[in-house]
Amino acid sequence: MNTAGVALKVELVTIGDELLLGFTLDSNGAHLARELAAIGVTIARRTSVGDDASAISEAVRDALDRTGAVITTGGLGPTSDDLTKPSIAGLFGREMRMDHAILEALRQRWLARGWGKELPKANEQQALIPEGATVLTNRHGSAPGILLEDDRGRWVAMLPGVPREMKGMFAEELLPWIQARAARGVQGDAADAAVVVSRTIRTTAIAESVLAEQVAPALGDLEGLSLAYLPHWPGVDLRLTSAGRPGGESLARLDRAEAALRRAIGAGVYGRDNDDLAAVVLELLKVRGYTMAVAESCTGGLLGGRITAISGSSHFFVGGVIAYSNEVKATHLGVGDDTLIQYGAVSEQTAREMAMGVRARYRADVAASITGIAGPGGGSAEKPVGTVCAAVDVRGEVTTARRNMVGDREEVRQRSAQWALDLVRRRLG
Ligand code: AMP
Ligand code: MG
Repeated sequence: MNTAGVALKVELVTIGDELLLGFTLDSNGAHLARELAAIGVTIARRTSVGDDASAISEAVRDALDRTGAVITTGGLGPTSDDLTKPSIAGLFGREMRMDHAILEALRQRWLARGWGKELPKANEQQALIPEGATVLTNRHGSAPGILLEDDRGRWVAMLPGVPREMKGMFAEELLPWIQARAARGVQGDAADAAVVVSRTIRTTAIAESVLAEQVAPALGDLEGLSLAYLPHWPGVDLRLTSAGRPGGESLARLDRAEAALRRAIGAGVYGRDNDDLAAVVLELLKVRGYTMAVAESCTGGLLGGRITAISGSSHFFVGGVIAYSNEVKATHLGVGDDTLIQYGAVSEQTAREMAMGVRARYRADVAASITGIAGPGGGSAEKPVGTVCAAVDVRGEVTTARRNMVGDREEVRQRSAQWALDLVRRRLG
């Protein structure tokens, strides 16, 4: 139970056979854990159970016995595997009642989506609400969420399984309720609750060990924040975490530590938190009023895909050529036959002519090109699998580079697109 001065503790129960079978990763649990930690709510335990009425009620009953505060996700849909509401209503000794306002809203939603006149019978059960429950409005889907509380103040909040719906409902409906409740539980100075807040500084094209050397002089300026190195294909992220301090103080420390890391690493930092390198490049194009084109061989459109995934890219991105064969490199980009014969398709010379060719043909200010050996076949002693060459042409000034990427085919391709974006960023930065 939550007593004065004690931070709120919550358990999460995520529901769905797909979680146990490993077909779906429990991203809902991860999201809720991060969001709750950020407001100083402790996650005491995370449990996953299948679509099974007794497994659901057992898990929720045990969690209630331990912490008295439980959030579930999943099993609120209209099908036979959606058992969350009746299982938990049973624990609280509540009957299910048809809520006619919700039923009408479901009917309207069904009509608006143009799936036919009649709401299927199966959907009607989504309007069945345990008596005495608070309904959590779903603005992102059909299944309403449910909040049940007993006379001892123990509560269970049931959120949908679809991550987009779950996130929306949590932020709009449940988070404000939990914050109000947590504030009631603490008094005086403790009202500015200790929180866990993180900030990520993103780098790419720097090896983890080299990054560690660059970071070393800044380690003294981290003011007790923890620092984690998180290597993955987009690069090495550095995550700073402040735990156990009030929110305002945490943010001030994160700001100062971020500044220290940026000074130490310099141009290797391309962004923070969820920043996408393609968005950073688009921002640089925008500042200069430049347009961009791409010519891709081994990435087969990934680079163009990264750029066009960013909304607003049409103002700056004109298009590109997937030049996989030598013939297309020659006929569509103007790469010289002699270049291809003398240096090969995977060479800085070919990359240079690919970039120049696409920039001229598409009348862009900037062009980037990639040609490489993604593997697993096609490598040689001189050019092993993972050899990638890239070029950037900014208004006629061309730079080229060659690297050896590690990883399997997919990783080599993803890393190549990221690297080419970084080369453009460094040219425009
Ligand atoms: P449900 O509300 O149980 O019908 O779940 C609908 C969809 O949400 C499923 O197809 C799952 O892929 C997804 N889902 C359910 N639980 C989770 C979870 N814990 N993390 C991520 N996705 C989930
Ligand atoms: Mg389910």
